[in-house]
Amino acid sequence: MNIISDRLTEIGVVPVIKLEHPQRDAAPLAKALCAGGVPVAEVTFRAEGAQEAIRLMKEACPEMTVGAGTVTNAMQIQLAAEAGAEFVVGKALSLLAWNGFSITAGSQVYQGKALILAPGVVRQAKYPGEAEFLGRGVSYCATCDGMLYRNKPVTVVGLAPDAPQEANYLHSLGCQVVYVSPHRPQGLDGDIPYRKAGKLAVKGETTVTGLEADGALLPCAGVFILRRAVAPTDLLPALETEEGGIRVDRRMATSVPGVFAAGDCTGGPLQVSKAVGEGHVAALSACEYLDLQDRPQAAPAK
Ligand SMILES: Cc1cc2nc3c(=O)[nH]c(=O)nc-3n(C[C@H](O)[C@H](O)[C@H](O)COP(=O)(O)OP(=O)(O)OC[C@H]3O[C@@H](n4cnc5c(N)ncnc54)[C@H](O)[C@@H]3O)c2cc1C
Repeated sequence: MNIISDRLTEIGVVPVIKLEHPQRDAAPLAKALCAGGVPVAEVTFRAEGAQEAIRLMKEACPEMTVGAGTVTNAMQIQLAAEAGAEFVVGKALSLLAWNGFSITAGSQVYQGKALILAPGVVRQAKYPGEAEFLGRGVSYCATCDGMLYRNKPVTVVGLAPDAPQEANYLHSLGCQVVYVSPHRPQGLDGDIPYRKAGKLAVKGETTVTGLEADGALLPCAGVFILRRAVAPTDLLPALETEEGGIRVDRRMATSVPGVFAAGDCTGGPLQVSKAVGEGHVAALSACEYLDLQDRPQAAPAK
């Protein structure tokens, strides 16, 4: 355990903050949270002025633990840290299960020996060809896989607010990017062509050769499908599911050793009380799993 996670555990709840008027509201909000016994906040970088809000909250309440949420790249981490953020929360984009677990969130890689999945309900229809070509031209993570497509034509299917930044990143690597989405994006580099389309299909032979967008074929070597959330089974295809949820036992252990799951992702009822209870059990089971890893000769827990 590190100091920050100890502190968050002790406080027990982390308010997620999005302020429209940081200059006006950040300091009073920080003081109110501290006075109410919740000296912690995660300020989401989705909103403009997040860096300013973090700085003002830390100034108003230096004892408060302030972090940055929805962080998607290294630049944002730097800005958040400069403002006084002590932790960052990002979207997990890829997961490697080897010798423990390595999770990529933005440009950061986090490692652990056990993993608790609690992404809520992630239901998403896949495009034709998407599952077939996953890892053979289809990617969900520009930061992780972008270098593989350097100087090659790629399409970005932009379904998440940070997708334009990811497309800009691919462009900066030298990829010839075409951006496809149902709505015109904000923040896309001016020299990246945009195509409005909703009906998509990934085409290929052994690897991806193109994306069909509303009937027109866009030849490319890679298709980056950037959604708001990544389904746990896309992060970890070995996870077994049951009626649409991650299959777990009473210890909230999944079919993958060391991986636990809790909340809506394990299926109904989709309610807070169930999510909280399962989270509690999953945390205890993960601790027990770690203890057993440290003492491999110990008998398995009953
Ligand atoms: C409108 C509405 C009203 C509701 N009303 C009630 C009610 O009155 N009573 C009740 O008991 N329940 C209610 N619920 C259901 C309740 O909100 C859920 O059951 C509960 O929040 C589930 O908790 P969870 O932690 O499993 O998932 P969530 O609360 O959905 O949290 C999951 C979090 O994981 C994040 N995430 C997902 N993927 C990733 C990733 N790849 N990387 C990083 N983060 C990720 C998500 O962004 C989200 O913040 C309501 C739900 C909705 C939508």
